[in-house]
Amino acid sequence: MPLKLIREDITNLSCDAIVNAANSTLLGGGGVDGAIHKAAGPGLLNECMTLGGCSTGQAKITKGYDLPSKYVIHTVGPVWRGGNENEEQLLRSCYRNCLAIAKEYNFESVAFPLISSGVYGYPKDEALKIAVDEITSFLYENDMLVYVVIFDKASFNIGEKLFDDIASYIDDRYVDGHFDNSRRRKMKGCLFCPSQASVPQPTYAEAQPVVFQDTCREESESLDDILKHIDESFSEMLLRKIDEKGMTDAECYKKANIDRKLFSKIRSDRLYKPSKTTAIAFAIALELSLEETKDMLMKAGFALSHSNKFDIIIEYFIKKNNYNVFEINEALFAFDQSLLGV
Ligand code: ADP
Repeated sequence: MPLKLIREDITNLSCDAIVNAANSTLLGGGGVDGAIHKAAGPGLLNECMTLGGCSTGQAKITKGYDLPSKYVIHTVGPVWRGGNENEEQLLRSCYRNCLAIAKEYNFESVAFPLISSGVYGYPKDEALKIAVDEITSFLYENDMLVYVVIFDKASFNIGEKLFDDIASYIDDRYVDGHFDNSRRRKMKGCLFCPSQASVPQPTYAEAQPVVFQDTCREESESLDDILKHIDESFSEMLLRKIDEKGMTDAECYKKANIDRKLFSKIRSDRLYKPSKTTAIAFAIALELSLEETKDMLMKAGFALSHSNKFDIIIEYFIKKNNYNVFEINEALFAFDQSLLGV
């Protein structure tokens, strides 16, 4: 099952367990630790007093008491001291040890705060990368729904350079939806690339130029090739592409951050209509080109447009050949867009 980034107060979540970024006494503190103790009530502190503390990088479990989640896994993150004091390994080991406990207890869902990224000072984007890295490695081998909770969006950034690159990519391409549509209605469409056809002349003086950068289909693709797959459904195209790429089903749905049950549903229903985010997640997992992605989306009744930030961000990553769903999701999250996968 997948990884989800969400913005929430972790104490509101109803999971098998939430993770507490505790200190080594396990007797409560500030930040998320204070919030969890407050919401759980005194029973939690009483149980914590029996545990004898916890060392950095390790984890211990208690019940959840008055929390909506059944259990709390307490872990102690490293204090950031500039990066040369084994902080990364210790932070990784927090995630690994918490996930090992979650596995031992057969939990189906666990939520993590961004450990060490508050009072302990770990740079937030680095802390997020480590969280995503450890959790995705775990999810390649195990079935679980894992949330990473980002509490304070204001101080969260995907990394300035990437953020700026995407922002200017959006600026360059973003066109007002109404303007875009009114122009498009005037176009003569090519059967396969309606947005590519003849680029119309602006109809009024103040019109800004709209640049259609999509390349038309490979000329070498014959009409036979094109027509061969015309009646193919989304599900059939997906399964064909998985075979063509030499992937297993599991490799594909895990890389797409898609739940196994949803994949089985798509697999067994030839006419299944996925959501747009699901369809794109598969296109990314299959590392399809922009044109192939559009074909796949079309099978599900969707298109990519330049009047939509979400679509432009997807296009940005595909053009950069970056097919990492989790990196794409971090960027979508930073721009307040829906995330890929489940
Ligand atoms: P640490 O001491 O490990 O840095 P903090 O509690 O200070 O722990 O911060 C860890 C992360 O938890 C920070 O990113 C902080 O914004 C976040 N956080 C604080 N309160 C909550 C909450 N109620 N729910 C989810 N995350 C929270």
